Amino acid sequence: MNTLNDQPSQPDADDTSEAHPGQRDRVDGCPGSRRVHIAADGAIGRLRFPGGLLPAPGFAVLADLADNFGDGDIHFTSRGNLQIRGIRNASGFADAAEEERLVPYPSHDRVRNILQSPMTGRVGGRADVSQMVKDFDAALCADESLASLPGRTLFAFDDGRGDVLAEAPDLGLVALGDDEVELIIGGVASGVVVTQEHAVDAVMEATRQWAQQRGTAWRVAEADATVDLAGAVVDALGDGAQWREPSTLADFSPAGRPEKPVGWIEQPDGLISLAAGLRFGILPARLARAIAQTQTTVHVTPWYSLIMHDLQEEVAEQVVRVMAPNGLIFDRKSSWLKVTACTGRPGCEKSLADTRGDAAHAIAAGKLPDGRVHFSGCERRCGRPKGGYFDYLATGDGEYDVTSVD
Ligand code: SF4
Repeated sequence: MNTLNDQPSQPDADDTSEAHPGQRDRVDGCPGSRRVHIAADGAIGRLRFPGGLLPAPGFAVLADLADNFGDGDIHFTSRGNLQIRGIRNASGFADAAEEERLVPYPSHDRVRNILQSPMTGRVGGRADVSQMVKDFDAALCADESLASLPGRTLFAFDDGRGDVLAEAPDLGLVALGDDEVELIIGGVASGVVVTQEHAVDAVMEATRQWAQQRGTAWRVAEADATVDLAGAVVDALGDGAQWREPSTLADFSPAGRPEKPVGWIEQPDGLISLAAGLRFGILPARLARAIAQTQTTVHVTPWYSLIMHDLQEEVAEQVVRVMAPNGLIFDRKSSWLKVTACTGRPGCEKSLADTRGDAAHAIAAGKLPDGRVHFSGCERRCGRPKGGYFDYLATGDGEYDVTSVD
């Protein structure tokens, strides 16, 4: 399997969390389908697909939304969500999204930020967590008291390869084997272990405790030190839960950087999964319609990529032949996978430069250093990678200060 290991994870371009650590004095600004975020290029509407699952035909619907209400593109986020930007008719967009059944639970719209290991049940992993994600989503949306959770709270169900655990989710689980899972609390494995039978109940209990204890915090790791979700879950589950030495990411991914799939992946059943990266996480509507024609299962990842599963080999070959020249990235060595950029001009009024345009020119000219690179239009550096990278900070139109960040 080829990997996307060099593709850094990044928060969404409109992420504001790092400017307000700890308890918050305002409601989080994460957009939803009806509560949009206003940017310089129009409103942003966000659509959520728990586990990243969106069957291929749904991409034709998204393409229509992008063309009819937005800027003609579908924008991927670091939480596996999808955004339409440049919306001028926000209520029309929300109505259309609901009519197309893309918002099945309007009351919990902004809460359904649920990642899963996208290859679970097909290739690798210690257990198939896909049904747990469905069960958890159903339980979450059936609990009215959880509808007001912050849109910033991130859930993840990791099948034991460490890929979505590495995204530092607030709550969730990581599979230890066929039958046991360890709860994730505050971005790390907690040491609380339950059987699969109790897995969804345990994450739900942690979620309810988070709703009760969080005060005005948005993220578990930033909450007051007195917030004790692990202890509350163990108390609630009794013999159903036990304490162990907490696992680390290295227990699931010895290399320390879990694999992020890209390219051609052979499934044990003889079918093919195709993982495709996207330039700056942008999927043009015409490509979305081409994906829809595959009529297959698709997972949106939190790494600005998507995976088309269960393709016959000849169909997969045709998909690569048609879509690679049109912008889908199946080559793990592509420079596009190493370069990220904030929204920049014209989408963000704070930006001093057209960051994405400048980054694209630099890639085409082969002018960038080896390793991760991030372009920012101002000092907030939205979307900067978590690890080391070369920092291109705009100082004017087309001009940047370049520093190396550890
Ligand atoms: S210009 Fe600044 S605020 Fe705007 S997207 Fe870029 S880094 Fe964020």
